[in-house]
Amino acid sequence: MHELAITQGILNFALDEATKRGADKVTALTVSLGALSGIMADCVETYFPLVAEGTLAEGAKLTFRRISARVRCADCGTESELPDFRLRCPACTSRKVELLSGREAYIESMEIEEKNRTNVEPFREKVPHLPKLF
Ligand SMILES: [Zn+2]
Repeated sequence: MHELAITQGILNFALDEATKRGADKVTALTVSLGALSGIMADCVETYFPLVAEGTLAEGAKLTFRRISARVRCADCGTESELPDFRLRCPACTSRKVELLSGREAYIESMEIEEKNRTNVEPFREKVPHLPKLF
């Protein structure tokens, strides 16, 4: 149920932002997920249409961007991408590593549409770098 709560959180945040901007519709969302965030993109993708039904975000296209887990080693100074979930330096196997990225989970951008009352073409607005959700 973890992912269901997260999906609901993503939706609520998107709806709030869309309402603030006077949008009629959320057409697309890009969500960034770190490899160590513990969030399964597949589950969020499955739940999203269910929770978004009947809201401004119904039918919105959901895209995920995966952020790799990277560490910096205190012993050998190497910066590298973790090949698995073990927190150690892939170069020298030291455990004195600092996690540089991989735990993130946030809405990166959102596309909304506002239908003008005078029937001008609907426009889309990108909302980059929304605040972190989790
Ligand atoms: Zn090292």
